[in-house]
Amino acid sequence: MQQRLAILGSTGSIGCSTLDVVRTHPTKYCVAALTANSQVDKLLTQCIEFKPQFVVLSDYSKIAYLIEQLKLHNVATTVLAGDDLADIAEIANADIVMSAIVGSSGLLPTYKAALAGKKILLANKESLVAGGKLIREALAQNPKAKLIPVDSEHSAIFQALPDDFVSSNDSNNHSINKIILTASGGPFRCFTKDELMDVTPEMAVMHPNWTMGKKISVDSSTLMNKGLEVIEAYWLFGVGLDKLEVVVHPQSIIHSMVEYIDGSVIAQLGAPDMKTPISYALAHPNRITSGSPKLDFTQLSSLTFDKPDYAKFPCLELAFTALKVGGAIPAVLNAANEVAVAAFLEHKITFYDIPRLIESSMNYFNCADYNSIDEVMEIDVSARNYVGGLI
Ligand code: NDP
Ligand code: MG
Repeated sequence: MQQRLAILGSTGSIGCSTLDVVRTHPTKYCVAALTANSQVDKLLTQCIEFKPQFVVLSDYSKIAYLIEQLKLHNVATTVLAGDDLADIAEIANADIVMSAIVGSSGLLPTYKAALAGKKILLANKESLVAGGKLIREALAQNPKAKLIPVDSEHSAIFQALPDDFVSSNDSNNHSINKIILTASGGPFRCFTKDELMDVTPEMAVMHPNWTMGKKISVDSSTLMNKGLEVIEAYWLFGVGLDKLEVVVHPQSIIHSMVEYIDGSVIAQLGAPDMKTPISYALAHPNRITSGSPKLDFTQLSSLTFDKPDYAKFPCLELAFTALKVGGAIPAVLNAANEVAVAAFLEHKITFYDIPRLIESSMNYFNCADYNSIDEVMEIDVSARNYVGGLI
């Protein structure tokens, strides 16, 4: 029987790769819902091909145009506005939800999908960074809910952990010594601090190994992406901060590793193509073809490893600090980073202003905490306003 899939952020890089996988497995999956922010023509093309029952378009000014075009193309898709985004998994009666919106706008829909007992494929790392505690609570409330990582590092770790590890969520029962997240080091790995002063957004979005959306590309260049991923791993796998380590591996072939107490290290390898972790998450606990290129080991000249340079890339240290302080500080770090990255992309601030703004926000909100989804969303807005003011 076909499983019903809702793709949140279908017009983005992960959304399109998910549709690439779905296209090759028409008997296994049908598209129940798609969502986009404002790329209306891309969404229309996806509707014509996949005929979802529902779409959500957050940009209200383009809804009338979309409805008119769907009619012209004889596509019977119901168009909903942004207010319905958080509940779209329920509205579309989806079995599986791909959470692939960028930023903390993905938090509420991911949280609600967990409460509704969906199988969630999580690309939107910001939702765990901002509201990890609440998402874990929502998952615990509905035993039908599952959270399968899509981020390549977390997919690798998930595959290298024992089968019952995530469900038991108790690292003490197991023999894990360390979880090692690999980082490509981004496009500026070999730059000096002086050279980093002059980098432009155009340079930052050119990732050497991966093709991704602009925000995550900038995050990769500052190493904030790795910082967010450390926090993501903390909430996904329930291990202590002392067991999380980052190693720079510029070739992006080993996607991450788990070290056991007997000295064994289990790694997952593959070409740098998100279709592999997307397929793994979609089909879990089975496997399906992904369309990713296969590794040819005879063509790999070397796999190298290095320590991250915390002085050159302060965002990584800030993320470790945020996790140590806890409470709502990771949510503040995330919100501040989103605003700072957007300003950097618009040439309003420099590369090193990004960590400066994040650090100022973390200091300003140093006691912030949350106990509900409303509280964490309020803190997110406050941190955004604060950084906006600083800029
Ligand atoms: P993109 O920028 O390519 O796509 C983002 C998607 O979210 C688009 O569909 C966009 O719509 C939609 N969107 C953006 N803002 C909003 C909003 N405020 N409300 C509703 N929808 C919105 O991002 P990526 O696909 O690169 O990344 C998506 C997530 O996956 C991020 O959290 C990222 O960190 C994570 N991820 C991405 C990887 C990758 O290889 N790209 C790898 C690992 C994780 P529209 O197109 O209309 O603007
Ligand atoms: Mg990643």
